[in-house]
Amino acid sequence: MQFPAPTRSSTLRAAVSRREVVTHSSEETIQLGRQVGAQMKPPALILLSGDLGAGKTTLTKGIASGLGAAAEEEVTSPTFTLVHKYDGSARVYHVDLYRIGDVHDLETLGLEDVFAEKAVVIVEWPEKFAIRTDWPVVRIHLEHVSEDTRRITIEESAAASTAP
Ligand code: ADP
Ligand code: MG
Repeated sequence: MQFPAPTRSSTLRAAVSRREVVTHSSEETIQLGRQVGAQMKPPALILLSGDLGAGKTTLTKGIASGLGAAAEEEVTSPTFTLVHKYDGSARVYHVDLYRIGDVHDLETLGLEDVFAEKAVVIVEWPEKFAIRTDWPVVRIHLEHVSEDTRRITIEESAAASTAP
């Protein structure tokens, strides 16, 4: 399957490139993630938004695999543990803020230390907390179209804050 090349637009946020892809299976979403991961240069922050079951964790399997940080089957949802770390030819932190209660919980994630590294940090439910970083940010939104179909929008920018 061919994914469209990114297009540049100055009407969105500063220096944003945006593309939209429709996938028809979890394997296609993983494949898209692999492509995103393979093109990525750490450090980077990836924000994954979308409803439960939209495919955020599925996409992360591909991104971690494309980066050479983990095999896709090693990547599982950090819903209860909040953070998973994968170390390979790149280091990936996969964070899920869905169950995060308060700022106390957030502090236990130790995310400040993470941003001192040259890693890729992937965050599910980023709308729960604003994360301040001067890393390049990739925003990916996943939408249910039908049971096996997802519309995935990828926006890249050199922005500095994830505040919604
Ligand atoms: P989230 O992390 O957003 O809650 P998951 O990735 O854990 O979502 O789950 C997505 C579910 O949807 C999985 O069961 C997956 O097999 C299924 N699915 C069906 N079609 C797709 C698709 N095109 N892309 C991603 N997941 C899909
Ligand atoms: Mg998930």
